[in-house]
Amino acid sequence: MKAANLYLENLPKWEEAAFSDRATAPPIEGEDLQAEPFSAYYTVAPFMAFMMDSSWEISPTATAGTLKVIFREKISQSIDCERLLGLVLSISDNDNVIHEVPDKIMNWASTFLDENTILDVPWIRLNEPIQSNDPKVFFDKINTVSPNVYQVLSSRHGQYNFILCGFTFREEIARGISKDGWIFLIAKKTITNRKKPRQERRFAQLVRSEPYSTNDYFERISNMRSLQTKRIAVFGLGCLGSTSATMLAQSGVAELVLVDKDQVSPSITCRTTYSLVDSGLPKMEALAHYLSSKFPFTYVLTNLFPSDHSGRPFPLINLGQFGCPYNQDDFLEAVLDKVDLIFDATAEEGIHHLLADRAQKKGIPIIFLSSRHGGMGGLVARLRPDGSNGCFACYAKHKDQETFPQAPEDLDANVQPGGCADVTFQASVFDVREVALTAVRLAVSTLCEGEENAYPSANWDLAVMSLVEEGKMLVPTWTTHHLTPHPDCQCKTRQ
Ligand SMILES: [Zn+2]
Repeated sequence: MKAANLYLENLPKWEEAAFSDRATAPPIEGEDLQAEPFSAYYTVAPFMAFMMDSSWEISPTATAGTLKVIFREKISQSIDCERLLGLVLSISDNDNVIHEVPDKIMNWASTFLDENTILDVPWIRLNEPIQSNDPKVFFDKINTVSPNVYQVLSSRHGQYNFILCGFTFREEIARGISKDGWIFLIAKKTITNRKKPRQERRFAQLVRSEPYSTNDYFERISNMRSLQTKRIAVFGLGCLGSTSATMLAQSGVAELVLVDKDQVSPSITCRTTYSLVDSGLPKMEALAHYLSSKFPFTYVLTNLFPSDHSGRPFPLINLGQFGCPYNQDDFLEAVLDKVDLIFDATAEEGIHHLLADRAQKKGIPIIFLSSRHGGMGGLVARLRPDGSNGCFACYAKHKDQETFPQAPEDLDANVQPGGCADVTFQASVFDVREVALTAVRLAVSTLCEGEENAYPSANWDLAVMSLVEEGKMLVPTWTTHHLTPHPDCQCKTRQ
């Protein structure tokens, strides 16, 4: 096909599609079913953005108002380094707040952005988008539409007079569907001072709006929306648990309870999510901080923990500890209250047993996981709340009798690193993470069970993985199995 033929054939189709009324006309043959948002065609500052909830609607009759915006750093600094991040906390039409961010986002913003930078930024509505990339055209628009807005803007901030304004206009967001689109103007206004003339660098840029809200977040993971109401308790925050908790938070789980008895040692950073600067901190605290900074839609609950004499929650929780200063039964009752799933990444069979019994009493599912010595494989298992696939003792009996295969392991791969009181196993982050990946998939699948258009359900309860066979590396090779009540287990007669 020659280029000329291509044009001859397709140009009429393009014309038909481009000039049809997209709100009513059906798509023509061969048309890409996508929106053409006008704001996507502006030339914007590369490292600047305003985050804003894309579901906020303003009445078409509202022509101007203010946005309350919090920034990562001072505006003067943002202009100097040409990096800017603003989060729109609320939008007002004259004096009435029309929309504001939910508490979770407000909490995130006040912790991780700079509260001293909050500004009222004016916005104006345009009947149609400005068809220019020249910031000066946007200046002129502010002056003609609403010179008062301009006055409010030129407040002195640090050593700058700057101008900041939001423009909204209708634009296509899905084929044939229009909504309010946004573009922002940021500019430094030259200060003229005859006595002390300064060479000012001119700065004026258009800044894009980035959609950010629960709705926007779940657009790419819409089959997991039900996680927005779920609470998960994660026990054990080592290489398996820290990675898994991170993926669960990233998937939008509403609440996580994190339980661990240990602190971060610099040597474990080779296969966990902790940073070197977390060294010495309780793992629960370090991970809670990391997750809260990255994933505002997930609350890490710490208020369920017992408090010491000074009223602070215990930073380390050691299940089964002798001489424990608080009642461990009460503690477990508190942390498992309202939990939808127990995720046991302690890799300790005693803890698996304890938590599996609690899970069945409470009628919630439990998933436990472990990796094998040398990182040569791993295991993920799920016990159902109704006991239909047995209890932990059933699982243990099946395991002893080798009803299901064992993943390979290398017992010689154990090592006692210098300064460490215990032997640990050698394994890489990418081998261990394979176990966490499958366990998280099973957790999400379990929590989505019974929901429509949700993450697929699993028809197995036990998976065993091998990464090595006869000394050679394998791609992760899983076999899945059904767990059943064991004929010798007493739980069968109890039911
Ligand atoms: Zn049993």
